[in-house]
Amino acid sequence: MRTPKKISAQGLADAIDSWLKENCDRQPDGSYLCRKCDATICAQDVYFLVHFKFFPDTCGGAGEFKRFGIPFCPLCEDAPEAYGCVHIDAHWPTDYDAAVSV
Ligand SMILES: [Zn+2]
Ligand SMILES: [Zn+2]
Repeated sequence: MRTPKKISAQGLADAIDSWLKENCDRQPDGSYLCRKCDATICAQDVYFLVHFKFFPDTCGGAGEFKRFGIPFCPLCEDAPEAYGCVHIDAHWPTDYDAAVSV
């Protein structure tokens, strides 16, 4: 999948979830296979800069970042961009985890 930018924290988790559902088949061991080419889905480590929503239409934050694995098919796609950003209200949601194990 493409690295999302200017997305909410929940939106990022949802985007990863729906990408996996639309493009991959989950295996009994928890890994994912590409529905088009049967390759094992990989995860690219992506750094998401944490930006605050109160800077409208711009990217502004305190320099904080979070790292998540963004899934992609190594045969059908280029690797996702190494940087994205997440736009949050003020605080990073507690108990948040967008990580996937692929
Ligand atoms: Zn941003
Ligand atoms: Zn594929």
